[in-house]
Amino acid sequence: MKPHIQTICAHAGATPDPATGAVTQPLYFSSTFHYPPTGEYPVGHIYSRESNPTRASLENVLAQLEQGEDAAAFSSGSAAASAVFFSLRPGDHVIINFDAYAGVRALLKDIFMPWGLDVTLTDLSDISNLSKSIQPNTKLVWTESPTNPQLRIVDLVSVITICKQKRIKIAVDNTFATPALQNPLVLGADLVMHSTTKYLGGHSDLTGGALITAKKDEQWERIRHIQHIQGAIPAPFDCWLLMRGIRSFVPRMAQHLSNAKAVVEFLSGHSKVERVLYPGLASHPNHDIARKQMSDFGAMVSFLVKGKKEDAMKIAQRVKVFTNATSLGGTESLIEHRKVVEGSDSPTPDNLLRLSVGIEDAFALIDDLKQAMA
Ligand SMILES: *Cc1c(COP(=O)(O)O)cnc(C)c1O
Repeated sequence: MKPHIQTICAHAGATPDPATGAVTQPLYFSSTFHYPPTGEYPVGHIYSRESNPTRASLENVLAQLEQGEDAAAFSSGSAAASAVFFSLRPGDHVIINFDAYAGVRALLKDIFMPWGLDVTLTDLSDISNLSKSIQPNTKLVWTESPTNPQLRIVDLVSVITICKQKRIKIAVDNTFATPALQNPLVLGADLVMHSTTKYLGGHSDLTGGALITAKKDEQWERIRHIQHIQGAIPAPFDCWLLMRGIRSFVPRMAQHLSNAKAVVEFLSGHSKVERVLYPGLASHPNHDIARKQMSDFGAMVSFLVKGKKEDAMKIAQRVKVFTNATSLGGTESLIEHRKVVEGSDSPTPDNLLRLSVGIEDAFALIDDLKQAMA
């Protein structure tokens, strides 16, 4: 993990308030802001859909975490993704991983393709598929690495190199990697997206999204405008809660990572496991790329159970420390049969279980899996 990130996180929303000296920043619920009759706004805030001091403070932290020039906070990761797609024009072409987060694929299929975007889904973990998919109207490559839930790894530097030559923008969903392990803007991407609902929030108690930009360019101005006029903004309380979560993000992540390693080791040696999908394993097809672009491999672990869907479901039904639930990145470990959640048209295998490895005692997690798989 990059050392500087720990200090940014520890101070998120916790720099003394000049008015009162409060060490934890006050929470500004106000939806509107006073201005003199001259029509000038000396403090810069007018109306909370456009900007709010608590949200501004969060956006400042998010930009620092990904080393971007600016950040915009949204009411969910999906709202953040929507703002990127809305910043394109009908007739533009988008390339995306075929196994990207199911909700983003649904957004494209149900909203943006009818709206006029031309979309190609392909396996971007095989970089030769990228050049084959590029068209004269390609404006954006939306990629995710590691992917949810198959943990495929996309070679971000190669994607960025190819796209830059063709003036195609690159947006990376960095939710699984987190800003602690991978910084796509530093590698040359244009935009990073996070579902802050996950590791950054970290306590399964808020829904949020973020976009961070490398440059305040024309597309970023459009995205900001979309945030302001479409209004999919987080409430001030959610911004404040997210900053509270971010303050402990780095030590939480360290525990997530060490627990994930223990769980991967246990699963890798288990007779009922067909294969563990985890980029930290030397057997992962893109392990070398993961090593290059990530400082660690994350705490999301998927595995294929020997047998059929029913055999996987049985394990999910027997766990006691893991909770059966969707989502990820909270302190508590979760288990999920993804195919059931994603629906029959999803590319996720029937025998796949996805684990969000939490920060409990590692032995408790392994004992739980051991009894569930006995
Ligand atoms: C959860 C998730 C999203 C969507 O975010 P929401 O906050 O649920 O809207 C997008 N991408 C990935 C990888 C996710 O895990």
